[in-house]
Amino acid sequence: YFYMAENNKKLFADIVVPGPPHQIFTYIIPADIRNDIEYGHRVVVPFGKRTSTGFVTAFSDKTSVENLKEIIEIADPWPLLTEELLNLTRWISDYYMAGWGETIKSALPPGLTAKSKLNVEILSTEEPDNLTNLQHTLFDLVKNKKSIPVNHLIKKYAPQPVRLALNSMEKTGLICFKYSFEKNGISVKTKKKISIINTLPKEEMEKLIKKSPVQAEVIKILMKKKSIWRHEINKPMSVLNRLRDKNLIEIQDIEVYRESLDELPPPPANEIVLTSEQKNAVEVITKSIDKQEFKTFLVHGITGSGKTQVYIESIKHTLSMGKTALVLIPEISLTPQAVMRYRSFFGDKIAVMHSRMASGERYDSWRRIKKGELTIGIGPRSAVFAPLENLGLIIVDEEHDPSFKQNDPSPRYHGRDVAVMRGKLNKAVVVLGSATPSFESYFNTINKKYEIISITERIDKTPLPSVTLVDQKKFTWEKENRIISPVLREKIENRLKKKEQVILLQNRRGYAPFLMCSKCGYIEECKNCDITLTFHRSTKTIECHYCGYRHRAPDVCPKCQNPSMSYRGGPGTEQVEEELQRIFPDARILRMDFDTTRAKGAHTKIIRAFSEHKGDILLGTQMVAKGHDFSGVSLVGIISADTGLFFPDFRAGEKTFQLLTQAAGRAGRRKMQGEVVIQTMSPGHPVLSFVLTHNYKDFFTWENQNRKELSYPPWGKIIAIHFKSSKKEPAEKAAEYFRKALGNNRTIAVLGPAPSPLSRIKNLYRYQIIVKSSRIIDNGGSKLHSVVRSALKKYYSSRNYYNVHIAVNVDPMDML
Ligand code: ADP
Ligand code: ZN
Repeated sequence: YFYMAENNKKLFADIVVPGPPHQIFTYIIPADIRNDIEYGHRVVVPFGKRTSTGFVTAFSDKTSVENLKEIIEIADPWPLLTEELLNLTRWISDYYMAGWGETIKSALPPGLTAKSKLNVEILSTEEPDNLTNLQHTLFDLVKNKKSIPVNHLIKKYAPQPVRLALNSMEKTGLICFKYSFEKNGISVKTKKKISIINTLPKEEMEKLIKKSPVQAEVIKILMKKKSIWRHEINKPMSVLNRLRDKNLIEIQDIEVYRESLDELPPPPANEIVLTSEQKNAVEVITKSIDKQEFKTFLVHGITGSGKTQVYIESIKHTLSMGKTALVLIPEISLTPQAVMRYRSFFGDKIAVMHSRMASGERYDSWRRIKKGELTIGIGPRSAVFAPLENLGLIIVDEEHDPSFKQNDPSPRYHGRDVAVMRGKLNKAVVVLGSATPSFESYFNTINKKYEIISITERIDKTPLPSVTLVDQKKFTWEKENRIISPVLREKIENRLKKKEQVILLQNRRGYAPFLMCSKCGYIEECKNCDITLTFHRSTKTIECHYCGYRHRAPDVCPKCQNPSMSYRGGPGTEQVEEELQRIFPDARILRMDFDTTRAKGAHTKIIRAFSEHKGDILLGTQMVAKGHDFSGVSLVGIISADTGLFFPDFRAGEKTFQLLTQAAGRAGRRKMQGEVVIQTMSPGHPVLSFVLTHNYKDFFTWENQNRKELSYPPWGKIIAIHFKSSKKEPAEKAAEYFRKALGNNRTIAVLGPAPSPLSRIKNLYRYQIIVKSSRIIDNGGSKLHSVVRSALKKYYSSRNYYNVHIAVNVDPMDML
């Protein structure tokens, strides 16, 4: 799978260019850069009619390709990608069937791979007399403007040989070429630092005060302070320039870092003494780190068992060996507490990376890691590409979380699986952790591919919460009990009385899933998607949760004009909130869902408020079930366990078990026994019985049997291929063509082509094909991969479906 880095004579370079086409191009390496050019260097190359940036992926001393072009320039002083990250991105592009260029692009901070523009600038204003007519014209133009894009000149004077003319002017030192990066290009941020280098004798100073009081003022300040930032001195640049020309001061551009983090949190108050299970876990992990071997552990520790502390101790050990560490967490804005905990232990050694950061901030974090100033990287799935060198340890916390999988755009990689591969390439230790491991990972411990470390007790031996199931069918027709059963109501009341906190989960946002005319039964659907519009009472709108289309909720039926619109379907978080307010008028309710957390930092605010006990009830969607650690919570209520249970997805049971167990795990930390109430319409469902007893293993055994029978992961591999098009027919035709291209092969099973469960989204019609193979005849899925790969090749070369968007999803996490 891996290309080998051979240091041949560097005559030709293979260059991969971000974005389609998925191809590698060969270029000639000009002699003057031959000594400097390295693997992973970003270079500027001519590409069709424009220039583009690409990455050096291989060297050779011969080639069979003819009419090659030359590399124009190396874009950065050092390679942006190490050989290791080249290998990793190469593997991803192979395994996930994505372009290598687009994979490299997703591995770098956004903006770095922006298209570059070539400009010319003047170097000498004296015109030599041997210029051609064209050169003379160009010279005049360039002299009068500071910088001109080469493309403009080419356009203006074509078909005259502008490029040639400029090239020879550059060789004689008359002009130079410079690249500027388009729009979202990002760069190093600098600040001007002003320092005094010479003082003035007294009489000179007095002269200056009279002649130019502003200049004198600057000198006075600098005599006191020696040096100062330009923005602190707040004087026009012209004043400063004049002082510099008099050789009195020096103006330097100093690199600064952009950071969006708050103050560092205080270090932990008292030394934490590890429990014996924690200690054992740390020992096992650090032993492997010492051996510098590739090994993957699965820490299966129940909620509240102190897994984070195990990670922290393991990281400490890694750093003490002079190595670096990487921590992946599901979604950073949802888990500010976790990040704070790492920061309180590791202070400013840690680089936080996430997508809500401004691109400049991300670039700076990235750069500081690359320079080796920061030795721990933490972030969501894309942080798996942090440019850490000498990696000793990779942690994937809450490894079961579906957000580790990227669905769009390509590469559709799974951050956890890439982390394991990165560990392998670095001979590093990989630690996956969860209270509810993914089936794939748990299965791998049974196969001995991963080693399991179990933590079976909570910190302080706090028992797991007791779980009560409530059969909500009984209350369907009772308005006052429909949303909150008498059992749950009473328990909430008790906890509130004792000043304890409550978390309520309802995994559906808005007020109700749709508005319906009670007379004619009309329900409005999205005009762009085959989806009913959700009713939001707070904004008095109906909204599409897939494309964002929304408008005012109608009072009269748009079809029969009857004023009889009423909401239907299970309650959303808005409705639950309203009901809570009715029952508990004095309770302080915090609602956390997509609608209340749109603003930057909104999650953190809610989580902080709740942990400071500025709210009694935290109500929300699955966001409330993430790894939060609130000490005051003694009761968790699930308003409806059924929202995900009957999803047409083979992972529905697994996901529901995970969600409910994780939510339950928020109850009763710090010695206080917690309680969980689960409301459901199907109390007999097997998944719920396992949640009731907190029994992951039994759940696994039961569900594993189902998976085996149908060859679903981990008993088989799946690849989903999606076809999208603005008209129905092309998508359908493309899917049918692809089906034929797959051929008939007895090792693989093909489902479809068929319209996707969401058959139209954002005005695109969707078809899909699911291809799978069983591990019994295709262990590792290599046959499946090769069948799909060759079908793809046929599909692309047929060139019939250029108006259909095709997306290949290897190991998809959902079936939509
Ligand atoms: P998990 O991630 O396994 O659910 P956490 O790592 O969040 O559990 O730990 C739960 C709580 O226990 C945290 O507040 C943590 O600071 C605390 N904790 C962890 N280890 C110890 C220990 N050995 N002694 C005391 N408190 C601990
Ligand atoms: Zn829509």
